[in-house]
Amino acid sequence: MSNQFPTTARVVIIGGGVIGSSIAYHLAQLGWKDIVLLERKQLTCGTTWHAAGLLTTLRDTEAQTKLAKYTQDLYRRLETETGQATGIINCGSIQLAMTDDKAHEMRRGCAMARCFGVENREISPAEVKEMWPLADVSNVQAAFHFPHDGRVNPADVAQALARGARMGGARIFEQTKVLGIEQRNGQVTGVRTDRGDIQAEFVVNCAGMWAREVGRMAGVNVPLQACEHYYLISEAIEGVHKMLPILRDPGNSAYIREEAGKIMLGFFEPVAKPWGMDGIPEDFCFNDIQADWDRMMPYMEKAMQRVPTLMDHGIKLFFCGPESFTPDHNYLMGPAPSLKNFFVAAGMNSLGILSGGGVGMVMARWIAEGQAPMDMWSVDLRRAHRWQDNDLYLKDRMVESLGIGYQDHWPFRQWTTARGVKKSILHDRLAAVGACFGESAGWERPNWYAKPGQKPEYEYSWGRQNWFDNNAEEHRAVREAVGVFEQTSFSKFLVQGRDAERVLNRTATANMSVPVGRIVYTQFLNEHGGIEADLTVTRLAEDRYLVVAAAFTHEHIEHLINKRIPADACCVVTDVSGSWSMLNVQGPNSRALLQKLAQDDMSNEAFPFGRAREIRIGYQTLLALRLTYVGELGWELYVPTAFTLPVYDALVEAGAEFGLRHCGYHTLNSLRIEKAYREWAHDIGPHDTPLEAGLGFACAWDKPGGFVGRDALLRQRDAGRLERRLVQFVLENPEPLLYHDEPIYRDGVMNGYTTSAMYGHTLGAAVAMGYVTNEGGVSDDYILEGRYEIEIGNERHAARASIAPLYDPKSARIRA
Ligand SMILES: Cc1cc2nc3c(=O)[nH]c(=O)nc-3n(C[C@H](O)[C@H](O)[C@H](O)COP(=O)(O)OP(=O)(O)OC[C@H]3O[C@@H](n4cnc5c(N)ncnc54)[C@H](O)[C@@H]3O)c2cc1C
Repeated sequence: MSNQFPTTARVVIIGGGVIGSSIAYHLAQLGWKDIVLLERKQLTCGTTWHAAGLLTTLRDTEAQTKLAKYTQDLYRRLETETGQATGIINCGSIQLAMTDDKAHEMRRGCAMARCFGVENREISPAEVKEMWPLADVSNVQAAFHFPHDGRVNPADVAQALARGARMGGARIFEQTKVLGIEQRNGQVTGVRTDRGDIQAEFVVNCAGMWAREVGRMAGVNVPLQACEHYYLISEAIEGVHKMLPILRDPGNSAYIREEAGKIMLGFFEPVAKPWGMDGIPEDFCFNDIQADWDRMMPYMEKAMQRVPTLMDHGIKLFFCGPESFTPDHNYLMGPAPSLKNFFVAAGMNSLGILSGGGVGMVMARWIAEGQAPMDMWSVDLRRAHRWQDNDLYLKDRMVESLGIGYQDHWPFRQWTTARGVKKSILHDRLAAVGACFGESAGWERPNWYAKPGQKPEYEYSWGRQNWFDNNAEEHRAVREAVGVFEQTSFSKFLVQGRDAERVLNRTATANMSVPVGRIVYTQFLNEHGGIEADLTVTRLAEDRYLVVAAAFTHEHIEHLINKRIPADACCVVTDVSGSWSMLNVQGPNSRALLQKLAQDDMSNEAFPFGRAREIRIGYQTLLALRLTYVGELGWELYVPTAFTLPVYDALVEAGAEFGLRHCGYHTLNSLRIEKAYREWAHDIGPHDTPLEAGLGFACAWDKPGGFVGRDALLRQRDAGRLERRLVQFVLENPEPLLYHDEPIYRDGVMNGYTTSAMYGHTLGAAVAMGYVTNEGGVSDDYILEGRYEIEIGNERHAARASIAPLYDPKSARIRA
């Protein structure tokens, strides 16, 4: 293999840390030729060289658990395969819980991990003491043992991956800095380096904490920020040996492991410190950074109490290195929405070693096959928002993001830092009537409304939280009277031009050739038939459509439509999310309320379900869409921002007579789950098809020109057998609560897990959705003949499965 500096390559990978090396290795494994990896200094010199090397598998999401599991399996065979030692030690790990809440959370997490083949079991504090005699277990409430976890030497792992990549033909050039990214017509064409230019079909940004800067060279948003990250290593301690399991001790924000007869104590402190806000020094290479041990002292003292002998021994090494973190503590992976063939894998949140193998495998397949091999939305770059590339926002959020992984993950937990990015014009009015706000995509949104005298603040727990009754009352108001939801955060796009119909018909499963004023519920699919978006499209004019989707899907939807506009088409997408407020008026009294206010006829005959009209309320004109996401008669009101205050005031004033109640997003959720309305990224996603999700009814199979994904879907339909189907469940017992990710058992055997769940106040028990799977096919009979249980912690609860929605299966209320 020539070592001459290349002028062309099929793929250029930027960054020689564990991630870049792993992607090069996996692309070579796929048989790719002409792979070039560029490293500005030396392999591993960024963050990889100094990592603690923990390989623990208990993670928050299915994707992250699978990445970690794959990584462990890969690292086990890497030395044999490449001849480069990785220092792997199969010592296992123990997770400790000091409170009942943490114990409950871990039981749930461990049950979920077992769904994905991660072996673990609950052990007693006495067993912990047996495995870790130096540990003080007096305050341990519960503990969980993962026998297959372990640790590695991170620099050696990266070198082994790099060697494996070279063995597969990849070329690695150190001392080569990428200075710019070349592009033409929205597609990457190569890189500029300090040693010359390289033309390339694909470019992958694996530049670790520099990835934001490299992203900016390409105009690609990679919102991450480095923080100080600490561990210390004690002097040698008797009784400390290499097979001591890793102790993860979230209550003390710490992990503990052996290091050559000494103890390594690492920290995930709850209040962290961003680093490098003024840029990373040009000569940074195998460096540590200025530590602030005064700041760390309280965490250190607390963590040492777990192994008290530490206090009697000296410290050999105090180490502080930089690691990059992201605003939601999840990685940033996948294709850049704005630049074709430019990929990113960065922002590893101190999990880059333990997930590096899996990240490399997924990225290589994503690049080679154009589709990730599993659902990656939780870490997909396309969930990041442009406005997040903001120094102050990142600095403030990172203070919280570093430590979040070691804290309690109660359901509905909200971020407390960097809030208030986006506020609707009604924000202060909603606050005045008791709104308790949560955040989505930067928007402050009312999640629930406090009653007079009650503080609009969460009191988190795994049981009924302090807003449970508020939710129940809001829920009932919508079912029995009328509720108003403020949903301005929705992503709203106008798709306009004489080819708008053609573009949307190709993109959406449903037929867009509908009369003006029709609302169409539809999905956008990928080529494999998987669901990329779930939305409503309203035809406003011959050449104008309004596309509405969830707030967090904003960049993804905009990109999806833009990507499918042919070069010669006359069609433009305009983001109008901030220009229109949205007030959603739902419930049996919604017609009477709106009829009192509107100068227009709101009767069923004049304004049937699925229609959109301009209506006038007071001096204001607005767009009313008759549709529902809660299963009731209702209208979504799209109000130009300047008209919003008077329309809202009029609604509230007139509403008293009809029992109008302010309702929050938690109520939207409890209502929609009762009606089995799916939510994208939870119940449906890129690896679920409309047929599996029970949404085949929205597919216009025979429309001229078809739609993206139709062929794959037809193959599935014609096979006449589905191996998985989305089903609704309700618990028999009204007491337990479900959230999501709870294992589902069919006839005593684990079959799947819940995708979303909430308390169904009308049905009188927790309601969930989840996929039932069977290789032999999932027929109606197969679903209904099963005996189901859903596991919460270590307890299983009987559940009833239903194919049709459990609430108003015939949708009579919607069409009233
Ligand atoms: C104290 C500490 C302990 C940790 N412990 C663990 C642990 O136990 N387990 C775990 O999983 N993770 C751990 N981590 C995190 C882990 O080290 C990182 O997630 C991982 O190393 C990130 O790898 P990377 O390849 O993304 O980044 P890096 O290793 O930083 O690699 C990026 C590379 O890109 C190069 N580069 C940047 N810009 C350019 C350019 N313009 N041109 C060419 N090259 C460029 C850099 O020089 C660098 O080498 C720890 C981190 C710290 C700081």
